[in-house]
Amino acid sequence: MQEYDSPMFRMACQQFDRVADYLALPQEVRGRMKQPKRTLIVSVPVRMDDGRVVVFPGYRVQHHLSLGPTKGGLRYHPDVTLGEVAALAMWMSWKCALAGLPYGGAKGGIACDPRKMSLRELERLTRRFTQEVIPLIGGHVDVMAPDVGTNEQTMAWILDTCAMREGEARPEIVTGKPISLGGSLGRREATGRGVAFLANRAMDTLGIDAAKATAVVQGFGNVGSHAALVLARHGTKIIGVGVQDGAVYNPNGLDLAALDSHLRANNHDIANFPGGEPITNEQLLELKCDVLAPCALERAITEKNAARLKCRVLAEGANGPTTPEADKIIEERGDIFVVPDILCNCGGVVVSYFEWVQNLQSFSWTEAEVNDKLYRILEQAFAAVMHRAKREKLSHRLAALAVGVQRVADAKLQRGLFP
Ligand code: GLU
Repeated sequence: MQEYDSPMFRMACQQFDRVADYLALPQEVRGRMKQPKRTLIVSVPVRMDDGRVVVFPGYRVQHHLSLGPTKGGLRYHPDVTLGEVAALAMWMSWKCALAGLPYGGAKGGIACDPRKMSLRELERLTRRFTQEVIPLIGGHVDVMAPDVGTNEQTMAWILDTCAMREGEARPEIVTGKPISLGGSLGRREATGRGVAFLANRAMDTLGIDAAKATAVVQGFGNVGSHAALVLARHGTKIIGVGVQDGAVYNPNGLDLAALDSHLRANNHDIANFPGGEPITNEQLLELKCDVLAPCALERAITEKNAARLKCRVLAEGANGPTTPEADKIIEERGDIFVVPDILCNCGGVVVSYFEWVQNLQSFSWTEAEVNDKLYRILEQAFAAVMHRAKREKLSHRLAALAVGVQRVADAKLQRGLFP
């Protein structure tokens, strides 16, 4: 379908084709799995603070409906396109299936620059977008969550907008909301915590002592910052951190709390952080380290830098950070332990699922319960990927995709075709 055509969607399809060939999936099911099930494109008019009306394009893509409601984040970023959102929705499907969650994948996005918008403008944008997509969302239909550029506040506005329309608040309509509105303890930290847990499992497998290891983290948003903090708590030295406009390096380890306050106080200006030497994002990714965790946007590792990576573990906190060309180079090198994105960053949606279950039961769990259940699922998913990779001599990415894609294919084949 050419509507979705874009470098990102092509990348997701290329990965899918490779797995589908490997699994010898019947043709009849391939087409059903590759194209998103349904998509809503909306125009979101917003009155800006200066009185102008700006119309933002918004998207919600639901990739498949065979295992339950669809689930996935909502992204605010200037580069959001339909093709990108469709690729991200497809990855959510494989991710949820790999983690054994009863969901299909979805993703939403609005092409806007949240860094240049006021809080009130963002609220109007979110409420109007919600109003436009209401026919397609719901606690048993499609459940949104934060992604790049959105947060707990965004989810609170969505929840409130739906509640105003329906006359009652249903917390299960979104996950990743504030705790006071039915959010789950541990959800905010979950993705980063999962990235750190799996990076540690990779280090265990390679016999690297986490307390003597070094790590580089690209992205210091909700995923990167918590991944870095949890890695540091286990004694790993964070020697490099990057944000959108640059990066810092300190071979003795960065003071993460100081970096966090500096970025907040100085509008994300990392170059002037006094606790490290300013470097570029390109240099950051090529630093020698034990763990490299790209936790920002997609396509950070490409055929240009893949041969120059000097890490032993590549822990993909972002969605789609490695292009298929780079993947090939990494596979040929054979010296990097890849924790692929759909495994590495699945902690977020796993705790989203816990949040949804708690909401449906009007019951809340302690943070210890949440984390304990999270680690069990991560361990199971990690073991499933390692087992499959070893038994069938596959790359970790192909193994992870094979587990996820197979589960969706089985569900589709077992349910059959309507009518
Ligand atoms: N946006 C996150 C992801 O890409 C979380 C999605 C969710 O919790 O539904 O996995």
